[in-house]
Order: sequence, then structure tokens, then C-alpha cells
Amino acid sequence: VEKLKKSFDIPGNMFEKKKTLKAVNDVSFAITEGKTFSLVGESGCGKSTTGRLISRLLQPNQGEIWIDGEEISKKKESQLKTMRQKVQMIFQDPYASLNPRMKVRDIIAEPLVIHTKLSKKEQQKLVSEMLEVVGLNEYHADRYAHEFSGGQRQRIGIARALIMKPRLIIADEPVSALDVSIQSQILNLLKDLQSEYNLTYLFISHDLSVVEHISDYIGVMYLGTIVESGPKENIFSNPQHPYTKALLSSVPIPDPKLRRERIILKGDLPSPVNPPKGCRFHTRCPVVTEMCKTIEPVMKKGLTDDHFVSCHLIK
Ligand code: SF4
Ligand code: MG
Repeated sequence: VEKLKKSFDIPGNMFEKKKTLKAVNDVSFAITEGKTFSLVGESGCGKSTTGRLISRLLQPNQGEIWIDGEEISKKKESQLKTMRQKVQMIFQDPYASLNPRMKVRDIIAEPLVIHTKLSKKEQQKLVSEMLEVVGLNEYHADRYAHEFSGGQRQRIGIARALIMKPRLIIADEPVSALDVSIQSQILNLLKDLQSEYNLTYLFISHDLSVVEHISDYIGVMYLGTIVESGPKENIFSNPQHPYTKALLSSVPIPDPKLRRERIILKGDLPSPVNPPKGCRFHTRCPVVTEMCKTIEPVMKKGLTDDHFVSCHLIK
């Protein structure tokens, strides 16, 4: 993903002029095959929009998206056939994203119906395989999704995403609607499937403890930009950006010796309609300097070659 940008127009009314919301502003990162790259940040930071751009549910205004050697950012829907087979989504709400009128076996087979010419029998053979892969069985196949718990429904969603053997799976808050005990089951399933099938995930979450569990690489987003990205170990044990430090300081750590001082950010999250000049984080940064208010920082190399930080304090 290279310098991706997306803004939305908000129509004006008799009191206010038309406005532009800059949802994603100059976002770049790379996902390694067989690994998990997570986008993390507060709600409204642009992480879901980034996921929807990469899956081309939305079209970017600028930038490039390369999947398997193919640039897809400017393609029309009719040219996106191959890409639609290669990229599958898992959504946050397994209650809303599964069609209540379809039997589970038809939900899972749906991508095959759309993208392949397999016979009904061949489709159902793959459905049976997928059910087993995600820990379900034929008992579930002839029922409706609403007959099952949230965790089982998310297994159905995962089976549907997997059946096309995708090159990339984009999972947008896939466990946020589930109980904590079920969350770890689903995260472990996603990890097991990854090591078995060499799956590549773009994982989107606001929850740092979830992100820590699943990620290899992390991009921390703030107001439409990535402020720090790199290997999980760097981000969690030695964060460099003041925003990452503040985010991490709010994660509970059981061992009191390891506990870090909680950094409370002042003020509210500014509106992406009118993001602050200079460094977008300067209105809340605990170590802000004068230059931060006017000059936008550029990405610099952090602790390792694959670690990047956008802050004037990084030399
Ligand atoms: Fe804080 Fe300045 Fe760094 Fe922005 S550039 S994070 S305001 S120190
Ligand atoms: Mg979201």
C-alpha cells in the first residue's frame, strides 16, 4: 500500500458549508506473505476505511494498492474479478454479516457460486471440508446462522472467507462483538489456520491486547495517518511515538514490576474534517515542541530497518 488517500464529502446545509473529511491520509505499509499486519487506533482513525480501500469496497482518491503483483486502486468493478477472488473479508458483527435466510452451507458456498463454475456437488464437498477446518460439522450446515452463538457464527464467517483460498484476508474487528472467553478461541483458530495454510491477514482492531496476540507487524493510526509501524516486539516493548506510548500505557499489565506509568492524553480527538496543522497529534502530545505545531513530521527509521516513526523527536 503506497501513499493511500481517501476523503469523503459531507454535504453542507443552510448553516454550514460543504466539508471534506480526510479519512485516510498518505498511508503506506507492506504485508508479508503468511504474516499478520494489524492496524490499530481509536475509532475514527481510518483503519476500517483503509481495509475497505484495500478490499476495494471503496475506491481511493490517490495512492497504490498492489496485490500479488497487480495494482488495483484504479480498476473498475468489471476489472476486479481476480482480485475479488484473492481478497476475502471477515467482518466485525457475525450477527449482521450472515444472511438470515440462507442455510449455513449456502452461506459458506456463496463465494464459489459467485466466482467459480464448480458443480453443486463439488461446492458442497468444499463446504464440508471448510466446516471441519473451522471446527464445525454437517450438523451446522443445514441450519440457519441465527441458531448459533456469536463464536460459532464467526466460524461460519471464517469458513466463507477461506473457501476461495484467498491470498489476503482482511479481518475488521472480527472478535470485538464476542465475549472475552470466545475471543481467544477465535483468535487461536485464526492463528492455527494461518500456520496451516500460510494465510496472510490484515487485522483491524482498536483492542491492543487482541492485536498483541495475533500480530507480526503493527501500524498505529492516528487521524488518518500511520504514526508508527514495525514488528510487534518493537511496538510493544519499545514504542517510539508519543501516541503509541500513550495507547500502550492504558493496557493493563498483570505484573506490577512491568507496569508502566499511565499517560493520560489531554483534550479530545480532533475532528478529521479539520485535522491540526503540523503534526496531527500536537494538540494532545505530552512532549510537543513549537515546531510540531507548524511542520509535519516525516517517517523516519526507528529501531530496526522495518520500524518507522513519524515524530520530530526521532533523530
Ligand atoms: Fe509530539 Fe511533536 Fe512528535 Fe508530534 S512531532 S508526536 S507533537 S513530539
Ligand atoms: Mg471500524
